[in-house]
Amino acid sequence: MKLFDLTGRVALITGGNGGIGLGMATGLAQAGAAIAVVGRNKAKGEAAARQLQALGADSAFIAANVVEEAACRAMVHATVARFGRLDILVNNAGTNVRKRPEAYAASEWHQVVDTNLSSAFHACQAAYPELQKAGGGKIINIGSMTSIFGMAFAVPYAASKGGIVQMSKAMATAWAKDNIQVNAVLPGWIDTELTRDARTQVDGLHDRVVARTPAGRWGVPQDLSGVAVFLASSASDFVTGAAIPIDGGYSAQG
Ligand code: NDP
Repeated sequence: MKLFDLTGRVALITGGNGGIGLGMATGLAQAGAAIAVVGRNKAKGEAAARQLQALGADSAFIAANVVEEAACRAMVHATVARFGRLDILVNNAGTNVRKRPEAYAASEWHQVVDTNLSSAFHACQAAYPELQKAGGGKIINIGSMTSIFGMAFAVPYAASKGGIVQMSKAMATAWAKDNIQVNAVLPGWIDTELTRDARTQVDGLHDRVVARTPAGRWGVPQDLSGVAVFLASSASDFVTGAAIPIDGGYSAQG
């Protein structure tokens, strides 16, 4: 369907080499986009690019550590050098350190906030002139249920994910005149490497998530494909500054 067609568009996805990022990349590839997969792990990144190529997409791995501002600029330049343009930026790379608030070292706070929030800011800044050149574009920032709720074991994570929503709203208002839409996606509990750790570190988490989620299951990365295509395509041209939960109803549950 033309409304969701991404043929000729180029997407850069941080953390596109696994988990939710690869789930979203798969949707964008199936809709016709070329994909720059960004991450630190080369083997994982090249495997992801091959997986996307097998779907018929042009795709390449671009190495970057997104906590470094210069690396965020370099990944955008490398994407434009390789694919000729940039239309879609997905800020998905993320991490977590789970502890009581009083136990965090300053370095752990910075590790989480720099990876989840500052990286997205720097990537957006780097992408902006390229999106302008393309005549507009789409930015998708990945929040979390902690963008809405508190969690005792995730203070820097929640601060970064709350920040993602407000940053997206502020950028949406600033860049609407450039035809750039900026939205946040708030995944519920999705089965990935990140949450496999959480399940071992947080007692009873698995069962609590299933019990609270009306859909009655954990999400899988492919559950994020559809919203990525919607927010990357012209179907969402009048959607900006939104924060959309993709959570099987978790956040609707009283
Ligand atoms: P994964 O751990 O599976 O994936 C995270 C990805 O981010 C990896 O591919 C990793 O690649 C990349 N990454 C991490 N740090 C950096 C860095 N410094 N520079 C470049 N890339 C980096 O986790 P998920 O797929 O679960 O998480 C993806 C996003 O979704 C995160 O923002 C997370 O907070 C968010 N989220 C996840 C939820 C869940 O339930 N899983 C729920 C809500 C939000 P590499 O190792 O190559 O660096």
